Order: sequence, then structure tokens, then C-alpha cells
Amino acid sequence: MANQPIIGVLALQGAYDVHAQRLRELGAEARLIRKPDQLQGLNGLIIPGGESTTFLKHLERAGFYDALNAFVQTKPTFGTCAGCILLAKDVANPTQPSFGVLDIAVERNAYGRQNDSKILLEPTSLPGGPLEMVFIRAPRIARTGPAVETLATRDGSPTLVRQGHLLAATFHPELSHDTRVHQLFLDLVRQNSNTPEPAQA
Ligand code: GLN
Repeated sequence: MANQPIIGVLALQGAYDVHAQRLRELGAEARLIRKPDQLQGLNGLIIPGGESTTFLKHLERAGFYDALNAFVQTKPTFGTCAGCILLAKDVANPTQPSFGVLDIAVERNAYGRQNDSKILLEPTSLPGGPLEMVFIRAPRIARTGPAVETLATRDGSPTLVRQGHLLAATFHPELSHDTRVHQLFLDLVRQNSNTPEPAQA
């Protein structure tokens, strides 16, 4: 991998532009991904927040679901909020299809109406103290498997988790000025830079 990692941001809906901006601030090349063949040549991918059901609808076209499914099996991927739901093994409230690569169970929209959106300063094991977390109709991680490391929590539930080449957050790190979470993903991309390209669908 060249010094400047190439990170795709899935740009079908949701908060993709701000993710791209954060990545560029940290010295990465950010590409907006709107077609499955654009997944080729990426060192990593962010699946942003939005509405996971709408993502699934968009992905139905032109083999996008299968291409993305192949990508997330081996290539560094960071799912935020709806993106976290798409990576999760088990999805509840209601159940819906997902790539199932990240060994967690999520409950969609789990923090109740009065808590639809909230900015909190919560504990994290990342160096630098508590982390600002912006929650928007956030899912709750109800279970983590043995290979999953919890890096931050809200009321005892994980909000930032890592498993091998995968990172997921139930909040929106792109809406905070704290760049530690995007930096963490770029570090994970560097550590996993030798993964081969997924087979062409
Ligand atoms: N509530 C959304 C869902 O269930 C996620 C919200 C978000 O991504 N901010 O997909």
C-alpha cells in the first residue's frame, strides 16, 4: 500500500461526504463509491449511517450486494450506525438481512423516541479520555462474540467494537471534531494492508 491509503465511502445515501472530509483531513485518499466495480483497488471502506433498510434496497441493484458481501469478508471495513447494522451477525427490531461478518447482535432504534438523537461524552479505552459520541436513532449492541473487542460504551453497552479487519460504531464519529475513531480505522487499514482483492462477482 502506498503511504496514502485509499478509502472508499459507500455513497448511496446517508452522511458520506463528512466521512470523506474527515479521512482527507487525516491524509487518506477518499473515494465515493456508487457502483460495485468501484470497490476494486480500495484499501478500506466506510459504510456510513443512514437507514439500513434503504441501503439494502439500493444494494439490490446490479450485483452490489454480492460485491459488497465479498469485500467485507476480508477487506478492512468500518460500519457506522446503519453500517454497523449491515455488518452485524444478528439484527433485531425487526430482523432483516445483513452481511453477518461481525459477531454482534444489534437492536435497531433501541434508545427510544425521547433519545432519538443525543450527544454524549462516554468512556473509551482509546488513549485521550472520554469520547464525544453523536447518536441518531442509534442501534444498541446487545451481544458481542468472543472475537469482538469493545473499545467504548454507553450505559454499559458497547458503542465501538473491533473484530480483526472490521470496526463498527453505533454513533456518528464523522459529526464530532474528535478524529480518534477515523484514525483508529486508518491504523486498522495499515495493519491489514496485505489482504488480497476479493474475487470478482
Ligand atoms: N435507525 C437506523 C437504522 O435502523 C440507523 C440510524 C443511523 O444510521 N443514524 O438503520
